[in-house]
Amino acid sequence: MKKLQGIDLHSHCIPEKMVGFLKKDNKPFDSEIIEDNGNKMVKIGSSSFPLSVEAVDPAEKLKSMDKMGIYHSVQSLSPRLFGYNLSYDDAVYSAKVANDSIAEFINYSPDRLSGMATVPLRFINDSVKELERVAGQLDMKAVQIGTHLDDKNLDDEMFYPFFEAAEDLGILILIHPYMGSPDKRMSKYYFNNLLGMAINTSVCLSSIILGGIIDRFQELKICFCHGGGFVPYQFGRLDHGYKVRDDVKNTSLDIPSSYLDKFYYDTITHSVEALEYLVGLVGSDRVVLGTDHPFDMGDYNPCKKVNSLKVTEKERHDILENNVADLFNLVKFQEMGI
Ligand SMILES: [Zn+2]
Repeated sequence: MKKLQGIDLHSHCIPEKMVGFLKKDNKPFDSEIIEDNGNKMVKIGSSSFPLSVEAVDPAEKLKSMDKMGIYHSVQSLSPRLFGYNLSYDDAVYSAKVANDSIAEFINYSPDRLSGMATVPLRFINDSVKELERVAGQLDMKAVQIGTHLDDKNLDDEMFYPFFEAAEDLGILILIHPYMGSPDKRMSKYYFNNLLGMAINTSVCLSSIILGGIIDRFQELKICFCHGGGFVPYQFGRLDHGYKVRDDVKNTSLDIPSSYLDKFYYDTITHSVEALEYLVGLVGSDRVVLGTDHPFDMGDYNPCKKVNSLKVTEKERHDILENNVADLFNLVKFQEMGI
């Protein structure tokens, strides 16, 4: 077992009750569970994804955390189960069941697991109600949403009530990319994930800045997955466009790059060099540990990467644990003497 030293903000689960929803002919996902070379897979439409035991069984999740050196992990539903295309009744019901079952999942070990809610994003009033319910009844301090809804970016006015509620409740929003409209050029080399996820995050982050969401909701706490996609590397293009293009001027109150240190970003860059650059750009108080466990694009050795960064001890502990501990009111290792 590795030395336990990190708090992971980005880790996924599919609690048992949600597995029940995925069985054939069982509404609402129109899915089935199949076997592929002895591995359980969930098939929804033409796509499928693994149903690994680490996602379903909290005891197995803890074992995986031990292997990764993760002391505490915040569990969010697999983004494949956002359910944004479900009917009203199914969407509202499945979000509620998901949140209740995530609460049960983390109850297996409250010292080592926290939960993150999901909402029926297409139905914004119900999303606000569910956010208020999980904050009050389940004491959840974060919610996970997708980067977009159909052809709407998150700066669309329809999302204002949701951002307002999250700001009022002090809830952190983890914005997680998911596959968008299929583009045939993206179908080879797993580009839909390798590049598509980062593109979706980049469009989302840029539209939240230029759409004035942070100007309007100044206390909003947002974390972007996978190191913020391509924006931390390409912010100069946004700034340049803001200065020279009439359709970008007078959007946000300030130049786009001035907003970058108002967000959180996870460490999942799969590169120490890229991570070091990100920390230098936005500050160690804005970077949080992530694993994306248990999926194949996860980073299962994040503490080693953080420990190899050329940063101070305080900055290292900020990234490994302090930033998430502060967001979730968790006890820090230093205080536990671990
Ligand atoms: Zn993820």
